[in-house]
Amino acid sequence: MDVDIVCVGFGPATAGFLTTLSKQLVNADGTPAVESPTQPGLPPQVLCYERADDLGFGVSGVVTRARALRASMPDLDPGHIPMAAPVGEEKVLYLLDPVGASRRSRTLRLADSLIRAAEWALPFECDAVELPWTPAFLHKHGGLVLSMGQFMQWVGAQVQSTGTVQIWPGTPVAQALLEENRVVGVRLLDQGVDKTGTPGDGFMPGMDIRAALTVVGDGPVGPIGQQLDAHFGLPERHHVRDWAIGMKFVVDLPEGTPLKPGTVWHTFGFPEPELFGFLYVHPDRLASLGLFVPSWFDSPIRTAYRYLQHWMLHPYLWRYLRGAKLRSWGAKTLGESGRRGEPHLVGDGFARIGEGSGSTNVLTGSGVDEAWATGVQLAEAALELLKAKKPFTKQNLDETYVRRRRASWVEEEARVAEKSRDGFQRGVVSGMLGMVWASLTNGRFSLFKSPVPPHARLKTLEDYFRDRVPPAELAQLRKECAIKGVSLHAALMHRCGWPAIPYDGRLLVSHQDALLLGGKVQAPPGYSDHVVFLYPNLCEQCGTKLCIEACSGQAIAPGEKGVPAFDREKCVHCGACLWNCAQAVPGNPDRMNIAFRAGTGGLHSAEN
Ligand SMILES: Cc1cc2nc3c(=O)[nH]c(=O)nc-3n(C[C@H](O)[C@H](O)[C@H](O)COP(=O)(O)OP(=O)(O)OC[C@H]3O[C@@H](n4cnc5c(N)ncnc54)[C@H](O)[C@@H]3O)c2cc1C
Ligand code: SF4
Ligand code: SF4
Repeated sequence: MDVDIVCVGFGPATAGFLTTLSKQLVNADGTPAVESPTQPGLPPQVLCYERADDLGFGVSGVVTRARALRASMPDLDPGHIPMAAPVGEEKVLYLLDPVGASRRSRTLRLADSLIRAAEWALPFECDAVELPWTPAFLHKHGGLVLSMGQFMQWVGAQVQSTGTVQIWPGTPVAQALLEENRVVGVRLLDQGVDKTGTPGDGFMPGMDIRAALTVVGDGPVGPIGQQLDAHFGLPERHHVRDWAIGMKFVVDLPEGTPLKPGTVWHTFGFPEPELFGFLYVHPDRLASLGLFVPSWFDSPIRTAYRYLQHWMLHPYLWRYLRGAKLRSWGAKTLGESGRRGEPHLVGDGFARIGEGSGSTNVLTGSGVDEAWATGVQLAEAALELLKAKKPFTKQNLDETYVRRRRASWVEEEARVAEKSRDGFQRGVVSGMLGMVWASLTNGRFSLFKSPVPPHARLKTLEDYFRDRVPPAELAQLRKECAIKGVSLHAALMHRCGWPAIPYDGRLLVSHQDALLLGGKVQAPPGYSDHVVFLYPNLCEQCGTKLCIEACSGQAIAPGEKGVPAFDREKCVHCGACLWNCAQAVPGNPDRMNIAFRAGTGGLHSAEN
């Protein structure tokens, strides 16, 4: 099939692109405002393919300053968007450890003792201290608390009602079609194959969609972005090494909750100092809450789910959450390399937008507005080229899209943020200092070295737990967990003093229950596995097996001969296994031993 523009993924970036484009393709009288280069006399044909089973199922994101959103939609009224509220009270909280199990450095223990000694003089309550001052870059004042899922469904309906573009959910793009160095469209995923991709009954090869412009907005772990990075390489000194897994609950708060819509809380310090938490309140007693587990977290048991439960149980938060009920659940990777992870933004026939193009601001933790803004910039560029009847060559896209992006606030702020996270490679205190320093110096100087790939700084289980669990006991625990076919983190956390979770069947539920309650449905049959262990021999030798510990959906489990087993039915497509793999492939320190390809299924919830 031939079209003019094909888009990969319907996240905020593509939503910004299509919102801008769709309004300017046709005049009020129905005549084309710009002509299709392939079908003169008609408006350009624009298609967008989304992997997830419906619009808004594959996204996340909550609080945004909404500068770009408002610029695109000056009449935006949060009252028209389900779960939206203007930002109200904002707080940053340092959570102390009421359990005594978290792993704190000497500096942090000293800080904790000083805080406890002076608690009468501080805004200290329930083992937490509210920071009396927060840097301006953290503020979202004037912005919106959103459910990105609800927002994307709302935007999707607006865009499609123009009748000028089509969005197809449930349609993963398998690969970009490359002819030498030119992208000429995309190929959709094969159907009627077994888990290895071998054709079976009802085989239907993925359709080729040829397009003059391919817009790649497939997010931080998108397979098409990865394919282009592998083909074109990254610009000099750029690398993608910083990620976090964001795990999130949407909950019904208890009746009579004092938390007001628009409340925005950020936390750090507990359950481990490196883990950042958030709680945002929507209208109608709904709240989004969750935790980020970053790639620079040294622990080889990066279990976001278990940590999230301990976080909810922190006394400062639990007094508001006791009696709350889980409504939906989600997990998604956040790309934290920012501008340093920026790929080649354009080439002949393609352009990259959104988080996969390095747009997320790692200083402010803001990605929605930035992704949307890059989509708008590309739409304006595409319209300029279509009107001038110029082709989508690298040079033309450089002179229109990249020029706009370089001149915008997205670029200006991304430069300030570029090195702001480097301090976290040395610990949370240096990380915080680095962020404040970047903000004070406008990002001109960094105190710290640029990050190494996550696997390169990861300690082995034996090293990490050396002072807590003797190697012989660890070996025994590992053996017992392998026999039971379960991950090791529960046993190790128990051994290190983390109490059992008091399941209440409402909010504190088992991981599998959270998957079901949270919207996980079975993956459709007839597709190949999208998570593949590239070199099984590396898995056999891998002692950490971090992919199993970190898997958000418990879709990776101990398998035969030391090679993990992947269960597509349980996968929520968070992409965490890709960067949590503990081993690089031979010859490429930045490529881990897991391939994360295009796949179907995942979560069915548009509340995330
Ligand atoms: C838990 C969490 C909380 C967050 N909170 C905030 C916040 O409060 N504020 C904020 O500003 N930012 C936040 N972010 C970051 C924000 O969500 C991202 O920066 C933003 O969503 C990036 O938009 P995007 O369009 O570039 O990519 P994405 O939102 O990742 O969208 C990409 C889309 O492409 C689809 N896709 C991927 N591969 C394919 C394929 N092969 N074929 C077809 N479709 C495909 C995906 O399903 C997805 O829908 C948060 C992120 C997480 C994970
Ligand atoms: S995929 Fe990576 S982390 Fe998992 S067992 Fe294999 S090498 Fe280890
Ligand atoms: S297997 Fe699926 S659920 Fe598990 S980490 Fe990978 S993408 Fe996430």
